[in-house]
Amino acid sequence: MGKSGYTSLSLNEDRYAKLRKDWDHIVSGHDGWGSTREHSFTAWATTVLEQSIKRVSLIKSMYPNYTMVGQTDTGCVIKDKNVIVEVKWSKTKLVCSVDNGACKHCEFASMHPQF
Ligand SMILES: [Zn+2]
Repeated sequence: MGKSGYTSLSLNEDRYAKLRKDWDHIVSGHDGWGSTREHSFTAWATTVLEQSIKRVSLIKSMYPNYTMVGQTDTGCVIKDKNVIVEVKWSKTKLVCSVDNGACKHCEFASMHPQF
């Protein structure tokens, strides 16, 4: 039986184990990353889900012609109207296959929750 006032969310056991291990190691207890000292994994994950949905709504309004096609080993692929654009990491900077320097494709990718 679950906690009163809560619903349950079933996650793949292997993915949850990795997620929880990474959260414990990378996020939990580190100030500035969601006040995790005061919040449980569940409360933190709920907030992140809520913020991700808001972010999708925002980027849909900011970049109505872009679609996330999928992830690659080094970045992602975006469809810009009818043009396929690859965005990838080059050391510590994002670059795209169309433009030189910072561009809207890189902005879109860096804001996208699936990147
Ligand atoms: Zn670009």
